[in-house]
Amino acid sequence: MTQATNQKGICYLVGSGPGDLGLVTLRAKECIEIADVVLYDYLCNPEILQWARPEAEIIYVGKKAADHTIPQEQLNELLVEKTSAGKIVTRLKGGDPYLFGRGGEEGQELRAAGVPFEIVPGITSAISGPAYAGIPVTHRDHCSQLTIFTGHEDPTKEESSLDFAKIAKADGTKVMLMGVGRLPIITSQLIDAGADAETPIALVRWATRGNQQTITGTLGTIAEIAEKAAFAAPAVAVIGGVVTLRDELNWFETRPLFGKRIVVTRTRKQAGVLSARLRNLGADVYEIPTIRIDPPDDLLGFGRLVQDSHTYDWILFTSPNGVDAFFDLFFKIYKDARSLGGARIAAVGPGTAKKLAEYRFDTDLIPQTNTAEGLLEALTKDHDVDNGTYLWVRPKDAREILSEGLAEKGAIVDQAIAYQTVPETSDPTGGIARFKSDGADLITFTSASTVEHFLDLGLPLPEGLKLASIGPITSAAIRDEGFSPDLEATENNIPGLVDAILAYYAPGAQG
Ligand code: SAH
Repeated sequence: MTQATNQKGICYLVGSGPGDLGLVTLRAKECIEIADVVLYDYLCNPEILQWARPEAEIIYVGKKAADHTIPQEQLNELLVEKTSAGKIVTRLKGGDPYLFGRGGEEGQELRAAGVPFEIVPGITSAISGPAYAGIPVTHRDHCSQLTIFTGHEDPTKEESSLDFAKIAKADGTKVMLMGVGRLPIITSQLIDAGADAETPIALVRWATRGNQQTITGTLGTIAEIAEKAAFAAPAVAVIGGVVTLRDELNWFETRPLFGKRIVVTRTRKQAGVLSARLRNLGADVYEIPTIRIDPPDDLLGFGRLVQDSHTYDWILFTSPNGVDAFFDLFFKIYKDARSLGGARIAAVGPGTAKKLAEYRFDTDLIPQTNTAEGLLEALTKDHDVDNGTYLWVRPKDAREILSEGLAEKGAIVDQAIAYQTVPETSDPTGGIARFKSDGADLITFTSASTVEHFLDLGLPLPEGLKLASIGPITSAAIRDEGFSPDLEATENNIPGLVDAILAYYAPGAQG
């Protein structure tokens, strides 16, 4: 062991919140972004891993109740080993790391091994779970005290420190974690110890996620209700008068798309605008990345054209990805934006123009019809293209209409192949696994290529799955593959697609 490498490593014990990605702290996100190694749990929403660097090592260390994937001692050793090797290690834990999360124990191990660590508190399921079920854990009309206890202690402990008599007699709201499996025993012990069998109780499963489920009853009835509903862990139980406030304060489960499992097919890099919008409407959204943007085969050749870009009359951009690929390289070669010289810039549509604006470049020409044909027409209509020089920044696979059309009119066209789309075969956020195990109600397609690439994955389509299409070209691709879209957006963009989905699921709209 060398001392020198020990200096750099640090272990962050990070609360990843209850599941809703919006409930992850900024500090937690930062720790994921800088990590060399990310360890995550059964209770962490795996979508959080999208913030990790592509080269980060991702290790699943979860456990499901009795089925321990990796024993705690081994996990502690792993944390010490990776951190001692000089790595930035981010250990994610569901909720808050210090509330029944063994964060304290892991901290002690790290301290004992002389390894630096930091704690990042998280939003605990004990409070946020009830909140998302419409239940505030305190309310002046109901209580002024909150007790949080675990229903499942370390089974190796000889004497239980859980005193049900004391818990039963405590005033105020009680929140129990890890107790669903032992609900009949726990509720009857509480009642035996003097708790009122009529006390309201709610169980919230997969709280704050799109697949959240809530059941309610009383201490006397809940065990049977849970059994009938086949209600399983993970769930938080909230016991007390505050549970009745759910009738008034339930907000999460009443949103228009609540309970609808919607798959979003997308590239790994694309911002999750569609997912975010659907989630905000209550849908249980998960993403299946189908394609990935890779550098072109001939990166050197692309680099030369980027270097010479200032010598062209026009630079033509036909996708936001092309803009990113171009300027990523451009600013590696040049320090000064003026190195683009007097080249004029054309964009195929507003999305591409918006991307250009992010790099502070204005667009000289956007066609009315946002297609290659439209761009060709706009470029040639009022301009003399003969002997003009054009640099077309394009993906590997693209229709040749633009280059051929311009060349026909005497233009000199160079093609800078900036990127290629390749099938995404890995399952970084567990979407494919979830599709296979849970199925989905609806799948969204936002381009013909997502249709093609999704079907290339060869996943069996669940019974009753509905297909949503962003517009006619995508719908044609769906039909070409032998399926038919169940809904198509009237306005062919993301907001239009969201509107179409809302209309589809509006009460009374369809069977
Ligand atoms: N540190 C975590 C709790 C870990 S103990 C926290 O602060 O939330 C594990 C228990 O937490 C589970 O058995 C379940 O009771 C509860 N839990 C964690 N996340 C949950 C979620 N999203 N929905 C419901 N219960 C959850």
